[in-house]
Amino acid sequence: MFTLPPLPYPTNALEPYLDTQTLEIHFGKHHATYLKNLNDLLPEKSDADLIPVLQHLDDLPQDIRVKVRNNAGGVYNHNLYWQCMSPKSKSPSPRLLSSIESGFGTLDAFKEKFSQAALTHFGSGWAWLVKGTKGLEIVTTPNQDSPVSTGLTPILGLDVWEHAYYLKYQNRRVEYIQAWWNVVNWDYVSSLLADR
Ligand code: MN
Repeated sequence: MFTLPPLPYPTNALEPYLDTQTLEIHFGKHHATYLKNLNDLLPEKSDADLIPVLQHLDDLPQDIRVKVRNNAGGVYNHNLYWQCMSPKSKSPSPRLLSSIESGFGTLDAFKEKFSQAALTHFGSGWAWLVKGTKGLEIVTTPNQDSPVSTGLTPILGLDVWEHAYYLKYQNRRVEYIQAWWNVVNWDYVSSLLADR
């Protein structure tokens, strides 16, 4: 059995940037549904198998491969998304800041480039900051595809599915992205750069 890690904060903790009702539905319905579907598909596996499953989707039987890709991705991506936010957003660690400056010039330039990637991604999907072979990179993925499946290590993820913002921001994805920067959990992102 895969399990749903508890939200690291109450559902109203990210107000006014992310509203309570969105968090309740996004975590309690959308994320929970990916988890239930994944458990139905792979009842014999558990949390420790999540990354290996995503790294080796081709090993799965063809009749469940796409469903596992969507639902294991949905579980992993949302696990990371919740951890990457906090009501007490601080700043990147010196090491993360230095890596961001190497890749993008300045923190503001990085934020601008990441925001543009998230804004212009067509349809449902994700924007990511990943550890690649040449340092930090910004990538986007469609649907629930995870960067883990292409050998990348995501350290920051932004959900740009409409379910992540539509109740509060309707079609204004740009306002959701701008608000989201106020709740980025830089301590956690910094810890992933150090660990992985
Ligand atoms: Mn989502």
